Amino acid sequence: AKESGRNNFQFYTSDMNARAYEILAVESQLRRAIEREEFVLHYQPQVDMRTGRIVGAEALIRWQHPENGLVGPGKFIPIAEERGLIVAIGNWVLREAARQNRAWQDAGLPPIAIAVNLSALQFYRQDICGYIAGVLADTGLEARYLELEVTESIIMQDVVSTVATMDALKSMGLKLAIDDFGTGYSSLNYLKRFKADKLKVDRSFVSDVPGDPDDCAITRAIINLARNLNLKVIAEGVETVEQWQFLLHEHCDEVQGYLVCKPQPPADMAQLLKAGLPI
Ligand code: C2E
Ligand code: CA
Ligand code: CA
Ligand code: CA
Repeated sequence: AKESGRNNFQFYTSDMNARAYEILAVESQLRRAIEREEFVLHYQPQVDMRTGRIVGAEALIRWQHPENGLVGPGKFIPIAEERGLIVAIGNWVLREAARQNRAWQDAGLPPIAIAVNLSALQFYRQDICGYIAGVLADTGLEARYLELEVTESIIMQDVVSTVATMDALKSMGLKLAIDDFGTGYSSLNYLKRFKADKLKVDRSFVSDVPGDPDDCAITRAIINLARNLNLKVIAEGVETVEQWQFLLHEHCDEVQGYLVCKPQPPADMAQLLKAGLPI
């Protein structure tokens, strides 16, 4: 038993070294990727449940790695956050989403808001209002066509300063959504101070409706909470017709998920905006 304990320990340390080494390798490759702009945005439609129309899209980053192909955000965003590279990457995302959205509008496509995910460091390490004002001025995009997705955990890190920042962004005309709603252990108290436009019901609840009574109750409660606070509500990660029917019955406003459409490269997203979703 002692022997295997020691082996386990050795195994564990060499695993830790491998992990540390991998983080360092990814970090240096990420620095290069930022310089060479190796990132792309894919866009996932957000659909009005009643009309079936695309009313928005979430921008989701991918890394076009020279050797490994298209790499998903789960593989590099946490490292970028840990190593402080997320501000540069997140700022690129804001600028690129705004540029693309304006280009689609200029091409005559129906205007939608594009939602961008923000990281905590983008809030706390820079003047985000100033940065976004610059992006809007440079790209010519109207503020109402840019939506910012902020998680509860970001808000709860520093409620007072986040509320102040969000107020300022709101008064610039931007849209605000609270992402992964229901997963953070936060007080609902901030909701009345925080002038969000939208709540996103987290996929962890949506994925188990209508089978799991607890998740049904939570999803229903979030939809009702949003309605009573005059916020829009969108369910994310909708994969089945049964989930869609449950959400429609509960008067959810919008859905986003594989059932409707996976995240799309820019050209395919433009095509969807032009032609609508194939139903
Ligand atoms: P998120 O903000 O919760 O984004 C939704 C994720 O769920 C996306 O994964 C999307 O592709 C996936 N998804 C959408 N519909 C379905 C569905 O029906 N079923 C399932 N199983 N998944 C679905 P993705 O693109 O891999 O992004 C993962 C996370 O990476 C995002 O979670 C977000 O936290 C982060 N992320 C992505 N882009 C950015 C970015 O530009 N900046 C920052 N800071 N984070 C980003
Ligand atoms: Ca999101
Ligand atoms: Ca989410
Ligand atoms: Ca669940």
